[in-house]
Amino acid sequence: MNPAGLTARLARHIHAHGPMTIAAFMAMALHDPKAGYYARRQPLGASGDFVTAPEISQIFGELIGLWCADLWQHMGSPDPVIVAELGPGRGVLIADFLRAVSGIAGFRPAMRLYLVEASPMLRAEQQRRLDGAGAVWLDDVAGLPDGPLLLVANEFLDALPIRQLVRGPAHWAERLVGVDADGRLCFAKGPESPMLSVLVPADRRDVVPDTVFEMCPAAAALAAGVAERLREQGGAALFVDYGYTGATGKSTLAAIGRHRAAGILDAPGTADLSAHVDFTALAAAARGGGATVYGPVPQGDFLKALGADLRLQILLRHAAPDQRAALETGLRRLIDPAEMGTLFQVLAIASPGIPAPAGFADGV
Ligand code: SAH
Repeated sequence: MNPAGLTARLARHIHAHGPMTIAAFMAMALHDPKAGYYARRQPLGASGDFVTAPEISQIFGELIGLWCADLWQHMGSPDPVIVAELGPGRGVLIADFLRAVSGIAGFRPAMRLYLVEASPMLRAEQQRRLDGAGAVWLDDVAGLPDGPLLLVANEFLDALPIRQLVRGPAHWAERLVGVDADGRLCFAKGPESPMLSVLVPADRRDVVPDTVFEMCPAAAALAAGVAERLREQGGAALFVDYGYTGATGKSTLAAIGRHRAAGILDAPGTADLSAHVDFTALAAAARGGGATVYGPVPQGDFLKALGADLRLQILLRHAAPDQRAALETGLRRLIDPAEMGTLFQVLAIASPGIPAPAGFADGV
């Protein structure tokens, strides 16, 4: 189905059932089995739509692997241990992870590897890259077997559908996707309701009209569910994403295609849709599930604390002259505050009782 087909289907849906939430629109635009973005496109890399940290520098996946290995040892080296990645993209992070931990005695043999991936195209690419690694693919984190868990997710939460509420004169209203008089998709506002106001945390309710509040029920449910499981069965989870603490007051929903901003409603299915992650809400959900929360800390600080510069020096020593510049600029992009160093934040949640994970000064 072509993108126009998906627009027409969305319009028919809206005519039949009324304007849809941003979350419903995102779910269809990203995951429709025929015309959704993740069903149709290979999003990552220079020929795709965007580039992520593991695609920029191998040091990213390597350090995350060593972060997990360190925690595994602090947990008493359980065997088996479940290692899971959510949204592994092209499988680059986990490939770098596995290579880096191959020298840690006992870790690799104890590891049961699970990859949670929605896109059939990316799943095929991960299978090619991880041939022989013994990984198991899942549709949902709920399919993970019981046991101690180390879970990682880079740029996964930003892809989960969000709802947007807009402050009206009296109460809050839902921001919706409707159809205009010319039959084009457009943003619309639902009725104001005190029922919607209670979805906004009390300290954020009393704001000027048109303030936007974003919520991501899927991310909150994931954090609470993982936290509960970690509390009962042990382990830790690491989430890296672009996001904020506190309130932004505005929409962070964005469409990106071929490395450029695109219109959110212009051609659903052809551009990636994502929103910044509300780390305050994520931390609250994880705490509610009974886990200890660490961070968020800026990605640059996290990678430096894990020894990124030292790792770079070792790689440079063995690199061919033409690889050196790429290694250096790659790491600089991940760490520099003007690039990804502070926009990206790192949050860990862990079972109570294990020492603070590397890269986080204190528990919060
Ligand atoms: N972590 C990778 C890819 C980030 S892109 C990297 O850093 O390069 C987002 C990833 O999440 C893709 O692999 C995408 O297919 C996957 N994804 C998005 N929504 C998902 C969902 N609801 N369930 C499972 N995987 C999902």
